[in-house]
Amino acid sequence: MGKPDARRSPWNLSTAPDPERWDDWVELDAAAWPRRVERHYRCIPTICFNCESACGLLAFVDKETGEVRKFEGNPVHPGSRGRTCAKGPATINQVQSPERILTPLRRVGPRGSGRYEKATWDEALDEIGGRIAAAFDEGRHDEVMYHVGRPGDDHFVPRMLTAWGIDGHNSHTNVCSASARTGYALWFGADRPSPDYAQAKFILLLSAHLETGHYFNPHAQRIIDAKSEGARIAVIDTRLSNTSTHADHWVPTWPGSEAALLLGVAHRLLATDRFDAEFVERWTNWRETLAAVDPGGDGTFERFVAWLKRRYAEFTPEFVAEECRIPADTVDKLADEIAAAGGRFASHLWRNAASGNLGGWQIARALMLLHVLTGSVGRPGGVNPNSWDKFVPKPSDSPPPIERWNELIWPREYPLAHYEMSFLLPHLLRQQDKKLDVYFTRVYNPVWTNPDGCSWIEMLEDEERVGCHVALTPIWSETAQWADWVLPMGLGPERHDLMSQETHAGTWIGFRQPVGREFRRLETGSPVDTTLGSNPGEVWEEAEFWIALTWRIDPDGALGIRRWFESKSKPGQPRSLDEYYADIFDHNVPGLPEAAAEAGLTPLEYMRRYGAFEVPYAGQRRYEKDDAGFPTPSGRLEVFSQTLSEWGHADQALPGYLRSHVHWRELDDRRGEMVLLPTFRLPTLIHTRSGNAKWLQEISHTNPLWVHPADAERIGLVNGELARVRTAIGYFVPRVWVTEGIHPGVVACSHHVGRWRIHRDDGGDKLSTSLVDIERKERSFLFRQKQGLTPFESRDPDTRRVWWSEVGVNQNLTFPVQPDPVSGMHCWHQKVVVEPADGEDRYGDVFVDTAAAEKVYRDWLARTVPAPGPGGLRRPTWLNRPLHPAKQCYQLKNE
Ligand code: SF4
Repeated sequence: MGKPDARRSPWNLSTAPDPERWDDWVELDAAAWPRRVERHYRCIPTICFNCESACGLLAFVDKETGEVRKFEGNPVHPGSRGRTCAKGPATINQVQSPERILTPLRRVGPRGSGRYEKATWDEALDEIGGRIAAAFDEGRHDEVMYHVGRPGDDHFVPRMLTAWGIDGHNSHTNVCSASARTGYALWFGADRPSPDYAQAKFILLLSAHLETGHYFNPHAQRIIDAKSEGARIAVIDTRLSNTSTHADHWVPTWPGSEAALLLGVAHRLLATDRFDAEFVERWTNWRETLAAVDPGGDGTFERFVAWLKRRYAEFTPEFVAEECRIPADTVDKLADEIAAAGGRFASHLWRNAASGNLGGWQIARALMLLHVLTGSVGRPGGVNPNSWDKFVPKPSDSPPPIERWNELIWPREYPLAHYEMSFLLPHLLRQQDKKLDVYFTRVYNPVWTNPDGCSWIEMLEDEERVGCHVALTPIWSETAQWADWVLPMGLGPERHDLMSQETHAGTWIGFRQPVGREFRRLETGSPVDTTLGSNPGEVWEEAEFWIALTWRIDPDGALGIRRWFESKSKPGQPRSLDEYYADIFDHNVPGLPEAAAEAGLTPLEYMRRYGAFEVPYAGQRRYEKDDAGFPTPSGRLEVFSQTLSEWGHADQALPGYLRSHVHWRELDDRRGEMVLLPTFRLPTLIHTRSGNAKWLQEISHTNPLWVHPADAERIGLVNGELARVRTAIGYFVPRVWVTEGIHPGVVACSHHVGRWRIHRDDGGDKLSTSLVDIERKERSFLFRQKQGLTPFESRDPDTRRVWWSEVGVNQNLTFPVQPDPVSGMHCWHQKVVVEPADGEDRYGDVFVDTAAAEKVYRDWLARTVPAPGPGGLRRPTWLNRPLHPAKQCYQLKNE
């Protein structure tokens, strides 16, 4: 493990201290100034939970009080290398928040009434476990569902659901990244890229990886490393993001036209013979492609190249300029940069254009075509399949695959979806006339985050549809307001998880651990059985909760479930997390036992001591080894996708350009339609969980509507005044921000704020929510803020110092679901009409008609090509799923 620059004294603040100083790190107490009072800390590594990057954190635990005083970066973490973004250190705000939930809560009034009483974990386990056991006993397995927003772990819960034998894993992927995943998976089997930014010469970002991307801090530091070495950067983004300001080129394409630009670049590379013919011939499925598109030809590679040139010849600079509404010379500028970089061309596309647009997955395919042409796949400075750089070790024993297929999660209308059709749940329950008996939401807030949140409210308040809603959350959320149980799960530094991410061309694992528990173990010298008691209040860690719940479901082992969580050293006892992780670290992480032995530690002690381990890297160009190729049906990078062709999308079987639902030709000028970009994040916020992080809230708390000056003048909008933004199912009322940082004809609004609660004292952090009234008429909802943010009393004096009052608008409520018929991705961009607010409108108003939302759902459903596909399958067997059912479950016709 590489040694960082050491912080040898409290006066050098550039990096955290070296591990050999972690047992007794001394700093002067700033609060005692001007007296020089020493504070002694034990530094304990853990992993940040505030986005999926899994950066290493170092908790500074005061040896006198046992309290965590601050978090810094863990200098020996191979992904983050001691650095964090603003959200990492703000973990301390979340830990110390006076508003956090500290005990299990059970609903006592009607659902949504805000009336809860304190309960014990035993009561929660008995009731929830009893319900699940009854559902399993009666064969109602599909009525138990776990719905996760931010997993923060790589295997524990999927393994548990597999042990339970249910197809009950639901996720947030289809409101996040399904589109890009589809495009990448169709090319190289892995559903995301792992760019080797540090060695790149040219970096093309259709993302915000320098400010908020996936994976923000680890990627940003490597992009800047490359820039320091002379790499050049281009950013394709309709909005002038922070990332764009670091780029050599900012290319503000019309939303959804990005594939046209990328194919225009491909055309120029091909037309000028600046491509890696050897790579294309060796590693693409050009033979299958030619057989499909030119069946009567001579089948030679030369003929394939000639066909490829013709195929993309229509994407001339002039065509691109018209489609994208950018200068025509942009195409050659990008082509020249990419050609000059050759194999050292890195890029990323994750949310941004892919998640906004109908057919966004074709943008990922067009982008990958450029990598294939330049041979910048799996080579230094290019993009790796993420599966090369992410490493997920598991316990030595694994339950057999599930033998069920849950159509509430995997409906037959979306056979190629990546992955679960999570955001359609209210519609699917109604359409399939089904119910959920136990519905877990876990770090998941669909009422606020998802499109069409009012349909979620209707679903959650209907006890015939959702029998018991259990919100597993460290913080109140809009969704938790309609929970029957609110169970306080540990924050990042209060739980165990194992994580690995594809942050660079390298492999590592990171070990999140509850720092209070580890502090106690180190101070007392004896093992600690459970995190209960080491965390604040009654806060428990999730893995231990799941193990305990599994034992309540299967108390005597008769269901064959609990054995997967039974101790091997103490038969008949639940497996402890020490035993669980020791098994993984002892047997399934190459190089770790040796490194631990060298340090005089067991592998588990090593991970508790350092928090991360750099797994020996298997290197790049892995497809060359034994002609391994890629995990696609052809074993090659797929220019032509037989899968798309066979599953009803033959017209899209090649990388192509699909006009988005918000393409400028699709807009009705007579109605004054514009495009709304609602997808951008604020770099210092974390969706729901930053609601109680006071530093972050002070930095970012509003989401004004970005409007170009020409549009503001045309529409009559005034900077700082209110606008009404009308969507297909309602409207919202934000403030206007007039800026040249947005393409004319397009408006933008961040989705990261606009939090609300319906009860004065419960159901939402006062620090980040407005108090709202919801006026209901049949299926319409009018949200009106009756109180913005005001200073308030708490045990934290800073809550009396709040100086801002507006906390944004929950625009996502006003969006209908718009699932892409191939990827299943919610197409976030909206056609809207923007106008000055009328006299009745107030800041933060939101109006929604859920009957209209249901109609839009049906309109988009009509575009799908449902299963069965070839062989009567529900889904191609080679496409990934987070939870793998047995092969026979893929058969639809055998039912
Ligand atoms: S990028 Fe920031 S929020 Fe994400 S894991 Fe790293 S420090 Fe935490």
